[in-house]
Amino acid sequence: MAMVVTDPCIGCKSTDCVVVCPTDAFHDAGEQLVIDPEVCIDCGACAAECPTNAIYPEDEVPTQWIAAISLNARLARIAPGITEPIRRSTS
Ligand code: SF4
Ligand code: SF4
Repeated sequence: MAMVVTDPCIGCKSTDCVVVCPTDAFHDAGEQLVIDPEVCIDCGACAAECPTNAIYPEDEVPTQWIAAISLNARLARIAPGITEPIRRSTS
């Protein structure tokens, strides 16, 4: 079973999750990140690092964010992979 990124991720882009993922399962879908369910090994490392508690096991996604399951699977196929932290401008 895969982990799923849900709505609280929107606008975060801290990428604390990305740097701990052993399988490079994250993709940058613009306003949020998504996890490729074909690549995720359900290790839980990302969920432990996420400051907004946006990441849930597929069978524990809260009802209001249930659409995120299919969204992650669909966007992971077309959004670019992300394996490095996003560097923000400090100026
Ligand atoms: S740490 Fe959590 S909220 Fe931030 S980018 Fe990763 S999944 Fe999204
Ligand atoms: S649960 Fe593990 S393998 Fe899956 S996305 Fe998170 S860190 Fe990567």
